[in-house]
Amino acid sequence: MPELPEVENIAIGLRQRAVGECAEEVEVRRPGMVKGPNRGRWRRLLAGVAGSEITRVTRRAKRLILTCDTGMTLLFQLGMTGKFLLEPDQGGSADEMRRKHTQLVIHLEGGPDVQFIDTRRFGRLWLLDCLDPDDPDPAMEAAGMSRLGPEALQMRVAVFRRVLQADRPIKSLLLDQGRIAGLGNIYADESLFAAGIHPMRRCRGLTDDEALRLLREIKAVLRRAIRAGGTTFSDFRNAYGDMGRFRRRLKVYGRQGQPCHVCGCPVEKTVLAGRGTHFCPQCQTPAPK
Ligand SMILES: [Zn+2]
Repeated sequence: MPELPEVENIAIGLRQRAVGECAEEVEVRRPGMVKGPNRGRWRRLLAGVAGSEITRVTRRAKRLILTCDTGMTLLFQLGMTGKFLLEPDQGGSADEMRRKHTQLVIHLEGGPDVQFIDTRRFGRLWLLDCLDPDDPDPAMEAAGMSRLGPEALQMRVAVFRRVLQADRPIKSLLLDQGRIAGLGNIYADESLFAAGIHPMRRCRGLTDDEALRLLREIKAVLRRAIRAGGTTFSDFRNAYGDMGRFRRRLKVYGRQGQPCHVCGCPVEKTVLAGRGTHFCPQCQTPAPK
């Protein structure tokens, strides 16, 4: 599932090629992906997008947001396998797969088509008349935007310490988008390893030093992953169709049974909050060091 660094990389590609271009047409091939209170009038709303300029591509948590000069906003949740591709259709077998799973196409006047491709079909689209956090419209509420916590990369330590006043395992808190937005399973595990904190530790039991170290490592891991183009296990591609290069830099995620890069102890995997959780039993101790 694409997390913050993957969605950020898709946004970077779309910004380069789609911002400033006019959308000729937005073609929805799977109307079921449109959600929220504007679902019933999506044809009319998207017809209004034709001829308008794409002015901004942004990201909030793991959602991707395209804004037009009319104020109309397309808010995408990529789900398990959703991706945007800019490449032109070459007619090869990969293109045939792509055609089969393309759920939406933004035809640009002066650039390549932007295709939203989603094999598992968990991707969602909300149509918003405006995107104003101070005056959220019902579609924004429906998209869960008002329930998101602060962005992980912008989170201040005082806010993080407040969020940590909870009696639950730190790993489950890091996955809670209402508390800290953008982290998923991969980067939660990697951040906890980098900070030397066991995923089962209770949030409230973390020392001030540990909280500071963890927040620093969360931001550092996310920034490194963004620079490496994200992590690809199977599906993720950026807007140009490239795989992310962060996978080979993962320290614990997906490395169960392999030696820890720091101490040589085999990396372990357990299930926590319903998710596979990877950690080094020696570097990440269950109590403060
Ligand atoms: Zn270790």
